[in-house]
Amino acid sequence: MITFEKTVKQARILNPLKGFQEDTLTFEYRADPLTGRNTTIIKGMLNYVSKFLVSDDSLLNSLVEKTRVNCPFCPESVRDKTPMFTKDFLDEGRIFVGDAVVIPNLLGHAERSILVVLSREHHLKLKDFTPKPVFDGFKGGVAYLKRLSEVEPSIRFPAFVFNYLPPAGSSICHPHMQVLVRDRPFYLVELLIERSRAYYELYKRSYWLDLGSKERGGERYLFDIDGVEWLVPFAPLRGANEVQAVVRGKSNLLELSDREWLGLAEGISKILQFYHKEGYMSFNIILVSGPTDEHLDYFDVNLRMISRPGIQALSFTDAWALPYLLWDGEAVEEPEQLAERIGAFTGNK
Ligand SMILES: [Zn+2]
Repeated sequence: MITFEKTVKQARILNPLKGFQEDTLTFEYRADPLTGRNTTIIKGMLNYVSKFLVSDDSLLNSLVEKTRVNCPFCPESVRDKTPMFTKDFLDEGRIFVGDAVVIPNLLGHAERSILVVLSREHHLKLKDFTPKPVFDGFKGGVAYLKRLSEVEPSIRFPAFVFNYLPPAGSSICHPHMQVLVRDRPFYLVELLIERSRAYYELYKRSYWLDLGSKERGGERYLFDIDGVEWLVPFAPLRGANEVQAVVRGKSNLLELSDREWLGLAEGISKILQFYHKEGYMSFNIILVSGPTDEHLDYFDVNLRMISRPGIQALSFTDAWALPYLLWDGEAVEEPEQLAERIGAFTGNK
């Protein structure tokens, strides 16, 4: 059964900010209820790093204008400057859904790696990511996955990935999403699938179903939209403002209905509105899937999203040694506090 384990540790210092009075620092170690991976919750860290999370508007504007000049994804260039699928894969060369354009990747991250251009606009503030472009982008990605499953069924582990703006690892500013597909799962996906299977074998129940039952109505739960449940994870994977979503009872991306894709798009849009209100510009999302050629009773499609640092002259990054090389998690505020702030913003608390 799911347990939420945490251990509190403390350190004493003589604090120069308080006239060298004795001060106590608190560190909370939390184990991810499925994988056991540790995340340390550092109370007060959000205040300390918040100055690195907002952007310098003039730097951002200059980045947007400089990258607009030769942008291959802007509407006037997308048909001339982006790759096309080979004729045997797709006769028309590219897939169009609404304003979304699906193209192969020039230099990908997996043996089948494609891009989905999400908007005609070169730059969107996070508040302008409405559900429609995200939904159309998802539908474009699914059209590609369907064709891939006909042509190369052995390439069956897809992940949808958003890296928005350079602090999130994107080399092209124009709003886009990646679809990475391999014959083998990414490490995190393999871990989630293995642990979900072990949980199912032990308890004869789905971890993901149990997670929903346990969290629903609780302090980390956010909302339920069209079959998709949104919450703040007990032990976030990474630093700031991490939110998780679970598509109930669907184990791979080809099983999702339009209603569920809309539930994902609407939830993403809501959380990005919240990030915008907090002053953020940049984010990452992963949407992970079981194999597309079979249904797994013990695994549900799920998503994680985080905000990333601002665009600033200092080039601060939150991809530092502890999470990046030591593989530990760290959260800059208590997940319950984040859930309360999001809930107050969305009207769900
Ligand atoms: Zn552009």
